[in-house]
Amino acid sequence: MNSDLQQYRMYIGGEWVEAADGATFETIDPYAQKPWAVLPRAGKLDAARAVDAASRAFNGGAWPKLKASARGLLLHRLADLIARDAERLARIEVRDNGKLINEMRAQVAYLPEYFRYFAGLADKIEGAVLPIDKADTFNYTCHEPLGVCVAITAWNSPLLLAVNKLAPGLAAGNTFVLKPSEFTSASALELAKLFEEAGFPPGVLNVVTGYGGEVGAPLVEDRRVAKIGFTGSETGGQKIYEAAARDFKHVTLELGGKSANIVFADANLDNAVKGAISGIFAATGQTCVAGSRVLVHESIYDEFVERLVAFARTARMGDPQETTTQVGPVTTPPQYEKILKYIEIAKSEGARCVLGGSPAQRPECGAGQFVEPTIFADVRNGMRIAQEEVFGPVLSCIRFRDDDEAVEIANDSLYGLAAGVWTSDLRRALELPKRLKVGIVWVNMYRAVSYMSPFGGYKRSGLGRENGIDAIREYLQTKSVWISTAQETPDPFVIR
Ligand code: NAD
Repeated sequence: MNSDLQQYRMYIGGEWVEAADGATFETIDPYAQKPWAVLPRAGKLDAARAVDAASRAFNGGAWPKLKASARGLLLHRLADLIARDAERLARIEVRDNGKLINEMRAQVAYLPEYFRYFAGLADKIEGAVLPIDKADTFNYTCHEPLGVCVAITAWNSPLLLAVNKLAPGLAAGNTFVLKPSEFTSASALELAKLFEEAGFPPGVLNVVTGYGGEVGAPLVEDRRVAKIGFTGSETGGQKIYEAAARDFKHVTLELGGKSANIVFADANLDNAVKGAISGIFAATGQTCVAGSRVLVHESIYDEFVERLVAFARTARMGDPQETTTQVGPVTTPPQYEKILKYIEIAKSEGARCVLGGSPAQRPECGAGQFVEPTIFADVRNGMRIAQEEVFGPVLSCIRFRDDDEAVEIANDSLYGLAAGVWTSDLRRALELPKRLKVGIVWVNMYRAVSYMSPFGGYKRSGLGRENGIDAIREYLQTKSVWISTAQETPDPFVIR
Protein backbone atom coordinates (compact mmCIF):
# COMPACT_ATOMS: atom_id res chain seq x y z
CA MET A 1 0.00 0.00 0.00
CA ASN A 2 1.30 3.48 -0.90
CA SER A 3 1.57 5.27 2.46
CA ASP A 4 1.78 8.74 0.83
CA LEU A 5 -1.85 8.48 -0.14
CA GLN A 6 -4.61 9.80 2.07
CA GLN A 7 -6.46 6.89 3.71
CA TYR A 8 -10.22 7.08 4.06
CA ARG A 9 -12.71 4.95 5.93
CA MET A 10 -16.45 4.65 5.33
CA TYR A 11 -19.09 5.93 7.73
CA ILE A 12 -21.64 3.33 8.88
CA GLY A 13 -23.81 3.58 11.99
CA GLY A 14 -21.67 6.40 13.36
CA GLU A 15 -18.44 4.35 13.05
CA TRP A 16 -15.50 4.84 10.67
CA VAL A 17 -14.95 1.42 9.12
CA GLU A 18 -13.04 -0.52 6.46
CA ALA A 19 -14.86 -2.71 3.93
CA ALA A 20 -15.90 -6.03 5.49
CA ASP A 21 -13.33 -7.90 3.40
CA GLY A 22 -10.69 -5.15 3.75
CA ALA A 23 -10.70 -4.35 0.00
CA THR A 24 -9.69 -0.86 -1.14
CA PHE A 25 -9.39 1.18 -4.33
CA GLU A 26 -7.50 4.32 -5.31
CA THR A 27 -8.95 7.59 -6.48
CA ILE A 28 -7.10 9.59 -9.14
CA ASP A 29 -6.34 13.31 -9.47
CA PRO A 30 -7.43 13.88 -13.12
CA TYR A 31 -4.96 16.73 -13.67
CA ALA A 32 -1.90 15.04 -12.19
CA GLN A 33 -3.16 11.62 -13.40
CA LYS A 34 -1.93 10.17 -10.10
CA PRO A 35 -3.74 8.42 -7.27
CA TRP A 36 -4.05 10.65 -4.20
CA ALA A 37 -6.27 8.69 -1.81
CA VAL A 38 -7.29 5.15 -0.91
CA LEU A 39 -10.89 4.27 -0.09
CA PRO A 40 -12.71 1.18 1.13
CA ARG A 41 -14.11 -0.91 -1.72
CA ALA A 42 -17.46 -1.86 -0.29
CA GLY A 43 -19.47 -4.92 -1.29
CA LYS A 44 -22.69 -6.69 -0.48
CA LEU A 45 -21.94 -7.14 3.22
CA ASP A 46 -21.17 -3.46 3.62
CA ALA A 47 -24.36 -2.51 1.79
CA ALA A 48 -26.37 -4.66 4.21
CA ARG A 49 -24.50 -3.21 7.17
CA ALA A 50 -25.26 0.34 6.03
CA VAL A 51 -28.97 -0.42 5.46
CA ASP A 52 -29.10 -2.07 8.92
CA ALA A 53 -27.73 1.11 10.46
CA ALA A 54 -30.09 3.37 8.50
CA SER A 55 -33.08 1.13 9.41
CA ARG A 56 -32.20 1.16 13.10
CA ALA A 57 -31.85 4.94 13.01
CA PHE A 58 -35.18 5.35 11.24
CA ASN A 59 -37.13 2.96 13.45
CA GLY A 60 -35.73 3.77 16.88
CA GLY A 61 -33.24 5.85 18.82
CA ALA A 62 -32.97 9.62 18.79
CA TRP A 63 -33.85 10.51 15.18
CA PRO A 64 -37.57 9.63 15.03
CA LYS A 65 -38.05 11.24 18.46
CA LEU A 66 -36.65 14.58 17.30
CA LYS A 67 -39.23 17.28 16.73
CA ALA A 68 -39.22 18.60 13.20
CA SER A 69 -37.79 21.95 14.30
CA ALA A 70 -34.93 20.12 16.07
CA ARG A 71 -34.18 18.31 12.79
CA GLY A 72 -34.10 21.73 11.19
CA LEU A 73 -31.62 22.96 13.82
CA LEU A 74 -29.30 20.03 13.11
CA LEU A 75 -29.42 20.85 9.41
CA HIS A 76 -28.60 24.49 10.21
CA ARG A 77 -25.63 23.36 12.29
CA LEU A 78 -24.42 21.23 9.39
CA ALA A 79 -24.81 24.21 7.04
CA ASP A 80 -22.57 26.30 9.34
CA LEU A 81 -19.89 23.59 9.32
CA ILE A 82 -19.94 23.32 5.53
CA ALA A 83 -19.59 27.10 5.31
CA ARG A 84 -16.65 26.94 7.74
CA ASP A 85 -14.89 24.24 5.65
CA ALA A 86 -15.95 25.46 2.20
CA GLU A 87 -12.45 26.19 0.87
CA ARG A 88 -11.11 22.81 2.02
CA LEU A 89 -14.06 20.95 0.52
CA ALA A 90 -13.74 22.86 -2.76
CA ARG A 91 -10.02 21.96 -3.01
CA ILE A 92 -10.79 18.28 -2.37
CA GLU A 93 -13.46 18.27 -5.10
CA VAL A 94 -11.04 19.85 -7.59
CA ARG A 95 -8.39 17.30 -6.74
CA ASP A 96 -10.80 14.40 -7.10
CA ASN A 97 -12.80 15.43 -10.18
CA GLY A 98 -10.76 18.12 -11.93
CA LYS A 99 -13.46 20.77 -11.89
CA LEU A 100 -12.26 24.38 -11.74
CA ILE A 101 -11.52 25.87 -8.35
CA ASN A 102 -13.60 28.95 -9.28
CA GLU A 103 -16.60 26.77 -10.09
CA MET A 104 -16.16 24.60 -7.00
CA ARG A 105 -15.75 27.59 -4.67
CA ALA A 106 -19.04 29.00 -5.92
CA GLN A 107 -20.76 25.61 -5.73
CA VAL A 108 -19.55 24.67 -2.23
CA ALA A 109 -20.23 28.17 -0.87
CA TYR A 110 -23.83 27.71 -2.03
CA LEU A 111 -24.36 24.25 -0.44
CA PRO A 112 -25.19 25.54 3.06
CA GLU A 113 -28.17 27.35 1.55
CA TYR A 114 -29.65 24.01 0.47
CA PHE A 115 -29.55 22.75 4.05
CA ARG A 116 -30.89 26.04 5.41
CA TYR A 117 -33.78 26.13 2.95
CA PHE A 118 -34.88 22.57 3.73
CA ALA A 119 -34.17 23.08 7.47
CA GLY A 120 -36.76 25.86 7.25
CA LEU A 121 -39.24 23.51 5.60
CA ALA A 122 -38.75 20.68 8.13
CA ASP A 123 -41.35 22.07 10.54
CA LYS A 124 -43.73 23.25 7.83
CA ILE A 125 -44.70 19.79 6.58
CA GLU A 126 -48.35 20.36 7.33
CA GLY A 127 -51.30 18.10 6.73
CA ALA A 128 -54.90 19.24 6.42
CA VAL A 129 -58.26 18.76 8.04
CA LEU A 130 -60.61 17.84 5.21
CA PRO A 131 -64.25 18.96 5.07
CA ILE A 132 -65.18 15.33 4.48
CA ASP A 133 -68.68 14.63 3.07
CA LYS A 134 -69.58 11.89 5.59
CA ALA A 135 -71.74 12.20 8.64
CA ASP A 136 -70.09 11.97 12.08
CA THR A 137 -66.62 11.67 10.63
CA PHE A 138 -63.40 13.59 11.19
CA ASN A 139 -60.71 13.23 8.51
CA TYR A 140 -57.20 14.62 8.36
CA THR A 141 -54.03 14.04 6.36
CA CYS A 142 -50.40 14.04 7.42
CA HIS A 143 -47.17 13.57 5.51
CA GLU A 144 -44.65 11.06 6.76
CA PRO A 145 -41.10 10.16 5.77
CA LEU A 146 -40.59 7.14 3.51
CA GLY A 147 -37.92 5.37 5.56
CA VAL A 148 -34.42 4.35 4.46
CA CYS A 149 -33.35 6.22 1.32
CA VAL A 150 -30.36 5.39 -0.86
CA ALA A 151 -28.64 8.26 -2.68
CA ILE A 152 -26.47 7.22 -5.63
CA THR A 153 -24.57 9.95 -7.44
CA ALA A 154 -22.50 10.70 -10.55
CA TRP A 155 -18.96 12.06 -10.58
CA ASN A 156 -19.44 15.46 -12.15
CA SER A 157 -20.64 17.50 -9.13
CA PRO A 158 -20.24 15.04 -6.27
CA LEU A 159 -21.23 17.16 -3.27
CA LEU A 160 -24.00 19.09 -4.98
CA LEU A 161 -25.67 15.92 -6.28
CA ALA A 162 -25.53 14.37 -2.81
CA VAL A 163 -26.86 17.49 -1.11
CA ASN A 164 -29.76 17.69 -3.61
CA LYS A 165 -30.99 14.43 -2.07
CA LEU A 166 -29.85 14.63 1.54
CA ALA A 167 -31.19 18.11 2.33
CA PRO A 168 -34.87 17.49 1.45
CA GLY A 169 -34.78 13.83 2.48
CA LEU A 170 -33.37 14.49 5.96
CA ALA A 171 -35.62 17.50 6.50
CA ALA A 172 -38.52 15.13 5.80
CA GLY A 173 -37.24 12.76 8.52
CA ASN A 174 -35.75 9.92 6.42
CA THR A 175 -32.39 8.25 6.96
CA PHE A 176 -29.80 7.68 4.22
CA VAL A 177 -27.15 5.50 2.73
CA LEU A 178 -25.08 7.60 0.29
CA LYS A 179 -23.07 5.84 -2.43
CA PRO A 180 -20.99 8.39 -4.34
CA SER A 181 -19.40 7.66 -7.71
CA GLU A 182 -16.36 5.42 -7.53
CA PHE A 183 -14.46 8.17 -9.40
CA THR A 184 -15.14 10.90 -6.84
CA SER A 185 -15.97 9.55 -3.39
CA ALA A 186 -13.68 11.53 -1.09
CA SER A 187 -15.93 14.55 -0.62
CA ALA A 188 -18.86 12.40 0.55
CA LEU A 189 -16.67 11.04 3.35
CA GLU A 190 -15.55 14.56 4.20
CA LEU A 191 -19.22 15.56 4.38
CA ALA A 192 -19.92 12.62 6.69
CA LYS A 193 -17.27 13.98 9.11
CA LEU A 194 -19.30 17.19 9.31
CA PHE A 195 -22.52 15.23 9.96
CA GLU A 196 -20.74 13.58 12.89
CA GLU A 197 -19.48 16.92 14.19
CA ALA A 198 -22.95 18.48 13.85
CA GLY A 199 -24.32 15.77 16.14
CA PHE A 200 -26.62 13.75 13.86
CA PRO A 201 -27.56 10.48 15.57
CA PRO A 202 -25.61 7.42 14.35
CA GLY A 203 -27.06 5.78 11.24
CA VAL A 204 -28.96 8.84 9.99
CA LEU A 205 -26.31 9.28 7.29
CA ASN A 206 -24.16 6.35 6.20
CA VAL A 207 -21.62 6.58 3.38
CA VAL A 208 -20.35 3.54 1.51
CA THR A 209 -17.72 3.81 -1.22
CA GLY A 210 -17.11 1.50 -4.14
CA TYR A 211 -18.39 0.37 -7.49
CA GLY A 212 -21.94 0.43 -8.80
CA GLY A 213 -22.22 -3.29 -9.47
CA GLU A 214 -20.55 -4.26 -6.19
CA VAL A 215 -22.19 -2.03 -3.59
CA GLY A 216 -24.72 0.10 -5.53
CA ALA A 217 -26.74 -2.84 -6.84
CA PRO A 218 -27.14 -4.60 -3.45
CA LEU A 219 -28.27 -1.31 -1.93
CA VAL A 220 -30.92 -0.87 -4.60
CA GLU A 221 -32.06 -4.47 -4.21
CA ASP A 222 -32.34 -4.38 -0.41
CA ARG A 223 -36.02 -4.80 0.47
CA ARG A 224 -35.72 -2.53 3.50
CA VAL A 225 -34.93 0.46 1.28
CA ALA A 226 -37.92 2.69 0.54
CA LYS A 227 -36.50 5.12 -1.99
CA ILE A 228 -33.61 5.59 -4.40
CA GLY A 229 -32.48 9.09 -5.33
CA PHE A 230 -30.25 8.58 -8.35
CA THR A 231 -28.19 10.91 -10.54
CA GLY A 232 -26.31 9.31 -13.39
CA SER A 233 -26.47 7.91 -16.86
CA GLU A 234 -29.56 6.76 -18.69
CA THR A 235 -28.41 3.12 -18.59
CA GLY A 236 -27.67 3.42 -14.88
CA GLY A 237 -31.13 4.93 -14.38
CA GLN A 238 -32.77 2.04 -16.24
CA LYS A 239 -31.06 -0.51 -14.00
CA ILE A 240 -32.11 1.38 -10.88
CA TYR A 241 -35.70 1.76 -12.06
CA GLU A 242 -36.00 -1.93 -12.96
CA ALA A 243 -34.54 -3.07 -9.64
CA ALA A 244 -36.68 -0.58 -7.69
CA ALA A 245 -39.82 -1.80 -9.46
CA ARG A 246 -39.47 -5.27 -7.92
CA ASP A 247 -40.28 -3.84 -4.49
CA PHE A 248 -42.25 -0.78 -5.64
CA LYS A 249 -39.59 1.51 -4.23
CA HIS A 250 -39.94 5.23 -4.83
CA VAL A 251 -37.39 6.73 -7.23
CA THR A 252 -36.08 10.08 -8.32
CA LEU A 253 -33.99 9.77 -11.47
CA GLU A 254 -31.84 12.65 -12.70
CA LEU A 255 -30.38 11.47 -16.00
CA GLY A 256 -28.80 12.82 -19.13
CA GLY A 257 -29.68 15.50 -21.65
CA LYS A 258 -29.13 16.94 -25.12
CA SER A 259 -30.30 20.43 -24.39
CA ALA A 260 -30.87 23.08 -27.06
CA ASN A 261 -29.74 26.67 -26.70
CA ILE A 262 -31.94 28.56 -29.21
CA VAL A 263 -30.63 31.86 -30.58
CA PHE A 264 -33.07 34.14 -32.41
CA ALA A 265 -31.97 36.91 -34.74
CA ASP A 266 -33.32 39.57 -32.34
CA ALA A 267 -31.12 38.35 -29.45
CA ASN A 268 -28.30 40.35 -27.91
CA LEU A 269 -25.60 38.33 -29.65
CA ASP A 270 -22.79 39.14 -27.21
CA ASN A 271 -24.87 37.67 -24.42
CA ALA A 272 -26.02 34.73 -26.52
CA VAL A 273 -22.42 33.85 -27.40
CA LYS A 274 -21.51 33.85 -23.69
CA GLY A 275 -24.60 31.76 -22.94
CA ALA A 276 -23.72 29.19 -25.58
CA ILE A 277 -20.12 29.03 -24.33
CA SER A 278 -21.21 28.60 -20.70
CA GLY A 279 -23.63 25.91 -21.83
CA ILE A 280 -20.97 23.70 -23.35
CA PHE A 281 -17.45 24.62 -22.26
CA ALA A 282 -18.02 25.44 -18.58
CA ALA A 283 -17.16 22.38 -16.47
CA THR A 284 -15.59 20.94 -19.65
CA GLY A 285 -19.10 20.17 -20.89
CA GLN A 286 -19.44 17.51 -18.19
CA THR A 287 -22.83 18.69 -17.01
CA CYS A 288 -26.23 17.11 -17.45
CA VAL A 289 -27.68 20.47 -18.55
CA ALA A 290 -24.96 21.07 -21.17
CA GLY A 291 -26.40 23.13 -24.03
CA SER A 292 -24.79 20.73 -26.45
CA ARG A 293 -26.96 21.80 -29.39
CA VAL A 294 -27.04 25.46 -30.32
CA LEU A 295 -29.89 26.25 -32.71
CA VAL A 296 -29.28 29.50 -34.59
CA HIS A 297 -31.60 31.45 -36.88
CA GLU A 298 -30.38 31.15 -40.47
CA SER A 299 -30.04 34.93 -40.89
CA ILE A 300 -27.31 35.14 -38.21
CA TYR A 301 -25.97 31.58 -38.35
CA ASP A 302 -22.61 32.24 -40.06
CA GLU A 303 -21.85 35.32 -37.99
CA PHE A 304 -22.85 33.59 -34.77
CA VAL A 305 -20.74 30.51 -35.40
CA GLU A 306 -17.77 32.73 -36.24
CA ARG A 307 -18.21 34.64 -32.98
CA LEU A 308 -18.56 31.42 -31.01
CA VAL A 309 -15.35 30.06 -32.47
CA ALA A 310 -13.48 33.31 -31.78
CA PHE A 311 -14.64 33.33 -28.15
CA ALA A 312 -14.00 29.62 -27.55
CA ARG A 313 -10.48 29.98 -28.97
CA THR A 314 -9.60 32.26 -26.05
CA ALA A 315 -10.56 29.66 -23.40
CA ARG A 316 -7.61 29.03 -21.10
CA MET A 317 -7.00 25.36 -20.39
CA GLY A 318 -4.83 24.09 -17.57
CA ASP A 319 -4.55 23.24 -13.90
CA PRO A 320 -8.04 23.36 -12.38
CA GLN A 321 -6.58 24.47 -9.02
CA GLU A 322 -5.50 27.77 -10.69
CA THR A 323 -8.08 30.55 -10.59
CA THR A 324 -7.17 31.69 -14.13
CA THR A 325 -8.07 28.34 -15.74
CA GLN A 326 -11.33 28.21 -17.69
CA VAL A 327 -11.39 24.67 -19.07
CA GLY A 328 -10.12 21.76 -17.02
CA PRO A 329 -9.37 18.10 -17.74
CA VAL A 330 -11.90 15.40 -18.49
CA THR A 331 -12.59 13.65 -15.18
CA THR A 332 -12.42 9.96 -16.06
CA PRO A 333 -10.54 7.86 -18.65
CA PRO A 334 -13.74 6.23 -20.03
CA GLN A 335 -15.28 9.68 -20.45
CA TYR A 336 -12.19 10.92 -22.32
CA GLU A 337 -12.42 7.97 -24.71
CA LYS A 338 -16.14 8.55 -25.17
CA ILE A 339 -15.69 12.23 -26.10
CA LEU A 340 -13.00 11.42 -28.67
CA LYS A 341 -15.19 8.66 -30.11
CA TYR A 342 -18.08 11.10 -30.58
CA ILE A 343 -15.79 13.61 -32.29
CA GLU A 344 -14.91 10.91 -34.82
CA ILE A 345 -18.58 9.97 -35.21
CA ALA A 346 -19.48 13.61 -35.94
CA LYS A 347 -16.74 13.88 -38.54
CA SER A 348 -17.81 10.64 -40.20
CA GLU A 349 -21.42 11.88 -40.30
CA GLY A 350 -20.33 14.94 -42.30
CA ALA A 351 -20.48 17.58 -39.58
CA ARG A 352 -17.95 20.35 -40.27
CA CYS A 353 -15.41 20.75 -37.47
CA VAL A 354 -14.73 24.49 -37.14
CA LEU A 355 -12.81 24.36 -33.87
CA GLY A 356 -10.83 21.74 -31.98
CA GLY A 357 -11.77 18.18 -32.77
CA SER A 358 -8.82 16.51 -31.05
CA PRO A 359 -7.16 15.81 -27.71
CA ALA A 360 -5.47 18.94 -26.30
CA GLN A 361 -1.73 18.65 -26.03
CA ARG A 362 -0.81 22.07 -24.72
CA PRO A 363 2.03 22.32 -22.16
CA GLU A 364 -0.35 23.82 -19.58
CA CYS A 365 -2.45 20.63 -19.73
CA GLY A 366 0.25 18.72 -17.84
CA ALA A 367 -0.47 15.01 -17.56
CA GLY A 368 -4.25 15.55 -17.65
CA GLN A 369 -6.59 14.18 -20.30
CA PHE A 370 -7.85 17.30 -22.06
CA VAL A 371 -10.01 17.69 -25.16
CA GLU A 372 -9.84 20.86 -27.26
CA PRO A 373 -13.07 22.88 -27.09
CA THR A 374 -14.79 21.54 -30.19
CA ILE A 375 -17.45 23.11 -32.38
CA PHE A 376 -19.22 21.39 -35.27
CA ALA A 377 -21.15 23.42 -37.85
CA ASP A 378 -23.59 22.12 -40.48
CA VAL A 379 -24.99 19.62 -38.04
CA ARG A 380 -28.37 18.11 -38.86
CA ASN A 381 -30.50 17.15 -35.92
CA GLY A 382 -30.81 13.54 -37.06
CA MET A 383 -27.05 12.98 -36.70
CA ARG A 384 -25.86 10.99 -33.70
CA ILE A 385 -23.79 13.96 -32.55
CA ALA A 386 -27.08 15.90 -32.18
CA GLN A 387 -29.05 13.06 -30.61
CA GLU A 388 -26.71 11.35 -28.15
CA GLU A 389 -25.23 12.74 -24.97
CA VAL A 390 -21.47 13.31 -25.24
CA PHE A 391 -20.90 14.83 -21.79
CA GLY A 392 -17.88 16.81 -22.95
CA PRO A 393 -16.81 20.08 -24.62
CA VAL A 394 -18.38 19.33 -28.01
CA LEU A 395 -20.97 21.69 -29.49
CA SER A 396 -23.28 21.04 -32.46
CA CYS A 397 -24.50 24.12 -34.36
CA ILE A 398 -27.79 23.66 -36.19
CA ARG A 399 -29.66 26.25 -38.27
CA PHE A 400 -33.40 26.95 -38.23
CA ARG A 401 -35.79 29.01 -40.38
CA ASP A 402 -38.50 30.14 -37.98
CA ASP A 403 -39.94 29.65 -34.47
CA ASP A 404 -41.86 26.51 -35.42
CA GLU A 405 -38.80 24.84 -36.83
CA ALA A 406 -36.71 25.86 -33.79
CA VAL A 407 -39.26 24.26 -31.46
CA GLU A 408 -39.53 21.17 -33.63
CA ILE A 409 -35.75 20.64 -33.66
CA ALA A 410 -35.38 21.36 -29.94
CA ASN A 411 -38.12 18.84 -29.10
CA ASP A 412 -36.83 16.23 -31.55
CA SER A 413 -34.80 14.52 -28.83
CA LEU A 414 -35.24 11.52 -26.58
CA TYR A 415 -34.19 13.79 -23.73
CA GLY A 416 -35.96 16.73 -22.14
CA LEU A 417 -33.80 18.21 -19.43
CA ALA A 418 -33.25 21.88 -20.28
CA ALA A 419 -33.33 24.54 -23.00
CA GLY A 420 -32.11 28.10 -23.46
CA VAL A 421 -33.90 30.83 -25.43
CA TRP A 422 -32.09 33.98 -26.53
CA THR A 423 -34.40 36.76 -27.72
CA SER A 424 -35.32 40.39 -27.10
CA ASP A 425 -38.93 39.75 -28.08
CA LEU A 426 -41.18 39.51 -25.03
CA ARG A 427 -43.75 37.42 -26.88
CA ARG A 428 -41.12 34.79 -27.72
CA ALA A 429 -39.73 34.88 -24.19
CA LEU A 430 -43.18 33.95 -22.90
CA GLU A 431 -44.37 31.63 -25.67
CA LEU A 432 -41.31 29.46 -26.28
CA PRO A 433 -41.08 28.01 -22.75
CA LYS A 434 -44.66 26.70 -23.13
CA ARG A 435 -43.74 24.84 -26.30
CA LEU A 436 -40.46 23.25 -25.20
CA LYS A 437 -40.78 19.73 -23.80
CA VAL A 438 -38.16 20.10 -21.09
CA GLY A 439 -38.08 20.47 -17.32
CA ILE A 440 -36.03 23.70 -17.19
CA VAL A 441 -36.07 26.71 -19.54
CA TRP A 442 -33.66 29.60 -19.23
CA VAL A 443 -34.46 32.78 -21.19
CA ASN A 444 -31.51 35.08 -21.87
CA MET A 445 -29.48 33.10 -19.36
CA TYR A 446 -28.13 29.57 -19.05
CA ARG A 447 -26.96 27.07 -16.43
CA ALA A 448 -28.42 28.66 -13.31
CA VAL A 449 -29.56 26.41 -10.45
CA SER A 450 -31.02 27.17 -7.06
CA TYR A 451 -32.22 25.14 -4.09
CA MET A 452 -35.48 27.10 -4.48
CA SER A 453 -36.34 26.08 -8.03
CA PRO A 454 -37.35 22.56 -9.14
CA PHE A 455 -34.74 20.72 -11.18
CA GLY A 456 -35.41 17.67 -13.33
CA GLY A 457 -36.24 16.40 -16.76
CA TYR A 458 -39.00 15.33 -19.10
CA LYS A 459 -38.84 12.16 -21.20
CA ARG A 460 -35.61 10.14 -20.85
CA SER A 461 -33.98 12.84 -18.73
CA GLY A 462 -35.61 11.39 -15.67
CA LEU A 463 -38.40 11.26 -13.15
CA GLY A 464 -39.22 13.47 -10.21
CA ARG A 465 -37.74 16.77 -9.13
CA GLU A 466 -34.91 17.92 -6.92
CA ASN A 467 -34.76 21.39 -5.29
CA GLY A 468 -37.64 23.60 -4.29
CA ILE A 469 -40.74 22.57 -2.39
CA ASP A 470 -41.35 19.78 -4.91
CA ALA A 471 -38.19 18.04 -3.66
CA ILE A 472 -39.34 17.53 -0.08
CA ARG A 473 -42.60 15.98 -1.36
CA GLU A 474 -40.49 13.37 -3.16
CA TYR A 475 -39.34 12.17 0.26
CA LEU A 476 -42.76 12.05 1.92
CA GLN A 477 -45.89 9.91 1.73
CA THR A 478 -49.41 10.93 2.64
CA LYS A 479 -51.59 9.30 5.25
CA SER A 480 -55.32 9.85 5.54
CA VAL A 481 -56.77 9.36 9.04
CA TRP A 482 -60.51 8.77 9.59
CA ILE A 483 -62.12 9.09 13.01
CA SER A 484 -65.75 8.23 13.59
CA THR A 485 -67.65 10.38 16.05
CA ALA A 486 -70.87 8.33 15.59
CA GLN A 487 -72.42 6.64 18.62
CA GLU A 488 -73.25 3.56 16.60
CA THR A 489 -71.51 1.83 13.67
CA PRO A 490 -73.89 1.68 10.68
CA ASP A 491 -74.67 -1.30 8.42
CA PRO A 492 -71.33 -3.16 8.02
CA PHE A 493 -72.30 -4.49 4.54
CA VAL A 494 -72.53 -1.01 2.97
CA ILE A 495 -69.54 1.18 2.20
CA ARG A 496 -69.46 4.27 4.38
P1 NAD B 1 -23.35 6.19 -14.08
O1 NAD B 1 -24.77 5.83 -14.34
O2 NAD B 1 -22.28 5.41 -14.71
O3 NAD B 1 -23.06 6.14 -12.51
C1 NAD B 1 -23.81 6.88 -11.59
C2 NAD B 1 -23.77 6.19 -10.24
O4 NAD B 1 -24.47 4.95 -10.32
C3 NAD B 1 -22.37 5.84 -9.75
O5 NAD B 1 -22.30 6.08 -8.36
C4 NAD B 1 -22.27 4.35 -10.05
O6 NAD B 1 -21.36 3.68 -9.22
C5 NAD B 1 -23.68 3.91 -9.78
N1 NAD B 1 -24.10 2.67 -10.43
C6 NAD B 1 -23.73 2.19 -11.64
N2 NAD B 1 -24.34 1.01 -11.88
C7 NAD B 1 -25.12 0.74 -10.81
C8 NAD B 1 -26.01 -0.32 -10.46
N3 NAD B 1 -26.21 -1.38 -11.26
N4 NAD B 1 -26.68 -0.25 -9.29
C9 NAD B 1 -26.50 0.80 -8.47
N5 NAD B 1 -25.65 1.82 -8.73
C10 NAD B 1 -24.98 1.80 -9.90
O7 NAD B 1 -23.21 7.75 -14.45
P2 NAD B 1 -21.89 8.66 -14.42
O8 NAD B 1 -21.03 8.30 -15.58
O9 NAD B 1 -21.31 8.64 -13.06
O10 NAD B 1 -22.50 10.11 -14.64
C11 NAD B 1 -22.69 10.72 -15.87
C12 NAD B 1 -24.16 10.79 -16.20
O11 NAD B 1 -24.87 11.44 -15.16
C13 NAD B 1 -24.47 11.58 -17.45
O12 NAD B 1 -25.37 10.87 -18.27
C14 NAD B 1 -25.11 12.84 -16.93
O13 NAD B 1 -25.98 13.48 -17.83
C15 NAD B 1 -25.79 12.36 -15.71
N6 NAD B 1 -26.04 13.46 -14.78
C16 NAD B 1 -27.32 13.90 -14.62
C17 NAD B 1 -27.58 14.97 -13.77
C18 NAD B 1 -28.99 15.45 -13.57
O14 NAD B 1 -29.24 16.06 -12.54
N7 NAD B 1 -29.91 15.23 -14.47
C19 NAD B 1 -26.54 15.59 -13.10
C20 NAD B 1 -25.25 15.12 -13.29
C21 NAD B 1 -25.01 14.04 -14.14
